Amino acid sequence: MTGWQKQARATTASPVWVAICLCAILAPGSAAAQIVANPDGSFSATALEISNTALVWQVAMGGLVVAAFLAAVILWVSTALRRARHSNIRRAAFVSSALNSLTTGIVMVDARKRIVFCNDRYLEIYGFSRSDLVPGMTGRDLTSLRATRGMLCDDIEEYYRNVKSPEGHVCELRDGRSILVKHRELSNGGIVSTHEDCTARRKMSRQLATTTHFLESVIDNIPVCVAAKSIEDGRYILANRAFEQFAGLSRDQIIGQTAEKVYVPEAAQMVTEADRDAIASPTGQTRTELSIEHNGGRRLIACNRMIARDEKGKPEFLVSLFEDVTDRRSLSREVQSAKKFLEQVVDNIPVSLVVKRLSDGQYVLANRAAEAMLTRRREDVIGSTLEDIYNPADVQFILKRDEDAVRKKGVVTEEHPIQTENGLRLFLTRRVTVLDEAGEPQYLIKTNEDITDRRETESRMAHMAYHDALTELPNRAAFLQALEQMIDACEDTDEEFAVLSLDLDRLKEINDVFGHEVGDQLLIEFSRRLESVISGGVVARLSGDEFGLIIDGLQPDSAKALATRLMQSMQTEFTFDGRAVRIGLTIGISVYPRNGRDAETLLTNADAALFRAKTKARGSINFFDMELDQQLRDRRALHQDLSTAIRNGELSLHYQPQARARHKMKSDHVLGFEALARWTHPVRGFVPPGDFIPLAEESGLIVEMGEWILREACREAASWPKDLQISVNLSPAQFMHGDLVGLVHSILIETGLAPGRLELEITEGVLIEDFDRGLLLLRRLKALGVRIAMDDFGSGYSSLTYLQAFPFDKIKIDRAFVMNLGRNPQSAAIIRAMIGLGHGLNISIVAEGVETQEQLSFLADEACDQVQGYLLGKPAPIETYAEWIGRTKSVSNVSNLPRRVG
Ligand code: C2E
Ligand code: CA
Ligand code: CA
Repeated sequence: MTGWQKQARATTASPVWVAICLCAILAPGSAAAQIVANPDGSFSATALEISNTALVWQVAMGGLVVAAFLAAVILWVSTALRRARHSNIRRAAFVSSALNSLTTGIVMVDARKRIVFCNDRYLEIYGFSRSDLVPGMTGRDLTSLRATRGMLCDDIEEYYRNVKSPEGHVCELRDGRSILVKHRELSNGGIVSTHEDCTARRKMSRQLATTTHFLESVIDNIPVCVAAKSIEDGRYILANRAFEQFAGLSRDQIIGQTAEKVYVPEAAQMVTEADRDAIASPTGQTRTELSIEHNGGRRLIACNRMIARDEKGKPEFLVSLFEDVTDRRSLSREVQSAKKFLEQVVDNIPVSLVVKRLSDGQYVLANRAAEAMLTRRREDVIGSTLEDIYNPADVQFILKRDEDAVRKKGVVTEEHPIQTENGLRLFLTRRVTVLDEAGEPQYLIKTNEDITDRRETESRMAHMAYHDALTELPNRAAFLQALEQMIDACEDTDEEFAVLSLDLDRLKEINDVFGHEVGDQLLIEFSRRLESVISGGVVARLSGDEFGLIIDGLQPDSAKALATRLMQSMQTEFTFDGRAVRIGLTIGISVYPRNGRDAETLLTNADAALFRAKTKARGSINFFDMELDQQLRDRRALHQDLSTAIRNGELSLHYQPQARARHKMKSDHVLGFEALARWTHPVRGFVPPGDFIPLAEESGLIVEMGEWILREACREAASWPKDLQISVNLSPAQFMHGDLVGLVHSILIETGLAPGRLELEITEGVLIEDFDRGLLLLRRLKALGVRIAMDDFGSGYSSLTYLQAFPFDKIKIDRAFVMNLGRNPQSAAIIRAMIGLGHGLNISIVAEGVETQEQLSFLADEACDQVQGYLLGKPAPIETYAEWIGRTKSVSNVSNLPRRVG
């Protein structure tokens, strides 16, 4: 039985207690009754005294009436009481069932903490049955029972402490349920405790929290500024991290504030106005771009605003998403201008360029050159396809090529002729496929370039690289290439061929005499004649006057026959402007494979054969000879080295004394020195002048070398304290080339040497080569005041003729005669005659090559004027003769001189 039922029963005792009280009130004088009513509803009479018997009847009657009345009253009362009790029971049952049907568990305890009520929901929550509740059970007993059943989260004391809190306490049960327990103290000292299963609600609120957190972190991590403000007061209610950064304020500083807190006044006003516009906009959404002053600079802010409404559709919040697009805008402006620039470039390149979209085959770009090539305006090209532009046959052709190029994906080029209004032109088409990120072809760029002119230039340049501009013949490079091809073809066969090296004689003279134009003309004519004679073989111009030929067939016969034919062809004169010019040829020949198996060797050997032919006789034909040409090759190598000898300081001068011819030589008899050139080769060491002077003469190097010798000798002599003679040898070549007289003159001025101290020794070669010229120059040299000596007198043929033609100052008797003195009587007679001749012509006589005292004595006896030879002194560096030239170093007498010098 619940507490409420017990109470209901307790109230049913009350009408009896009311009737007794009523009797006591109705008989106040006859009887006194004391009724003690117990709190639980029982009663008892302690005494009833009746005062007299007369009154017994009256009283009995009255008592009867009263009793009847009382009985009626009691009946009435008890009926009323029963009715009230039933109503109470019904009400209690109703309340009880109402409480039992609650979703909240309820337990009530009275002031003594005994349980007076516990609803079904409570039992259900904790898995109890009603039988678990025993009479007299306290609330704490029930809680302990929960603890033993594992239905309590904390220990009991803590539990009681927690549940007192106004919000209650959530008890997390082991089975995962959450029960919200609240204790409410009643005024009568009892307690009502409510137990509510809030598992689902808790789960939901947890989920909500997670979702909220997730959304917050999403918003926070959006790189765009997100701000939300209440429309009512314009205060911020949300600011994400990007906004914090933009504002330079923390979230706490923003939230609850208005735009004035974030922006400078002018900017804040603009923002507020934009907010207002957004709120007023019918769509509730606006996009704006504001240029505002912010963070010390003007920034461009792009903003999206939208209105968030409450359930009733009333605008509640304004959400703004905005971005500082200043940098991006300026970047995009740059991109735009770069794009425009590129478009201009593309438009102005002289190459036709179109871009085709592969998805639909439409042209999406065409530049100016493409307009010209397709003969239609760009607007008509863009958006059209191949079919719109070309005829069906061309479409097929071009489409196939496009598809091939797209398949290959790289750059595909091809050259093809196209008929244009300027005639047939050569075009270079380049196809480049543009891929998307996935590597799929998207566009095809096609360029068409008119390369007709370029190709022509290229082939012209290629021709120039391999041809001689004057004669149009192949040049040396082409000749070597042809030679290599020939070798390749003949390798591993017994085929032979010959290389002919041709030298045009007297080309230089023709240039000098007739001028270069005639020289050039001659070369051209000569080339044509060569081509006609060789007919089929290779002809090339190797250098100025050197030509190369390749002739196959049986060797050496084939080469010999060709060489002869060439020689014969030169019999016919060339005529220019009515002037007949005849030229000669010298030919050197090498044969493959016996004279060389590679191009370089074959040509070098043909050259060597030519070189020897030239030294033998101009106009001859010479086959390469290993032994003979080896020496020549050596000489040529030496010649090569000689060309750099002056520059490398390898040349020097030795000096040989010349003295009066006296039986006993004394230093003061020395009259002068002959300067003799010396070459110390860096590898070969000392090279005799007999070897290198002829080499220098052949090559013309002697001109440059002679200048150096002359200057060096004059400079040296000018430095001597004594005014001694200095003799310098001149080669015939020095008379043929350059301005010898001018050179001597300027060297004398330059070195300050008195002209009378300089003696130039010449051989008869000077006059043999070109008598008139030689004579003229000798005269002019003499006019400068220098002396001229005839060297090696007697060794040639026509010395006497020259003595007659020019007034030499000195005659040097060739040492061959002196050498033979005492060996044959003729020598003495010849020397004697020469001395007589000289004296007769008033020319002083010098005997060369005096090596012995006997020779000296003979010459002294014969009144020879001067002597020169090893007896007196060998050619040596000037320091050796320091004392003789008046310098300090002591050289006591001739015998002290080193025996072998130079
Ligand atoms: P050369 O002009 O007749 O020079 C005299 C040559 O006779 C020198 O030979 C000299 O060393 C040599 N000699 C002198 N005394 C004696 C002697 O007692 N016995 C013998 N056996 N020989 C003697 P080197 O220096 O070898 O010169 C040879 C030739 O080279 C010269 O003959 C000259 O024609 C030429 N040469 C030398 N230096 C020059 C130069 O500077 N310019 C030119 N153009 N030719 C030079
Ligand atoms: Ca000499
Ligand atoms: Ca000589």
